[in-house]
Amino acid sequence: MTDNDTHHHHRHLPPDPEYTAEKLQELLIQKGLVDEKTLDEIVNIYEHKIGPQNGSRVVAKSWADGEFKKLLFDNPTEAIKSLGFHGRQGEHVIAVENTTETHNMVVCTLCSCYPWPLLGIPPNWYKSDSYRKRAVKEPRKVLHEFGVELKDTQKVKVWDSTAEIRYLVVPMQPEESKGLSEDELVPWVTRNSMIGTGLPTKPK
Ligand code: FE
Repeated sequence: MTDNDTHHHHRHLPPDPEYTAEKLQELLIQKGLVDEKTLDEIVNIYEHKIGPQNGSRVVAKSWADGEFKKLLFDNPTEAIKSLGFHGRQGEHVIAVENTTETHNMVVCTLCSCYPWPLLGIPPNWYKSDSYRKRAVKEPRKVLHEFGVELKDTQKVKVWDSTAEIRYLVVPMQPEESKGLSEDELVPWVTRNSMIGTGLPTKPK
């Protein structure tokens, strides 16, 4: 793969406000004008407004509604749009389903491609060198560190995101949550369960 290909697939330097904001953030931290903690708080707000709850809605609906589930795997873009979620960094999303045989996990090995309209902006660990390298080399170990223990019979499939294709993991619905309504299911679907580094969790 040439450098050009790399840039084409990952668009390291998008000529748009996202890029400007990222550079600005780096500069502000470097100059000591803003601390990382404050920025993390802003990120947190962002996450709760346009963030993972959108993806949670998509997954919850797929659990509760068989027809929607079919559409989500056949034509994810249309399925996701039908719920009103679309926009930059989410044009081509592919849904990958966890099963008793296969556990899916998402990484962007080159930068931090991520389905923004569904999950908000990526957490710091997703962008870290360590995660980007290790997710591919030793996914089970990484999953263990995230508290995800798989059965020996379960394969791990790692998906490498690009600017063109982003992945949404559709986790298995916990037995305990079967029969709940779509609205009741939404809070079970954690952000990490949609990246593959977590499992759905009963809300507190
Ligand atoms: Fe990327």
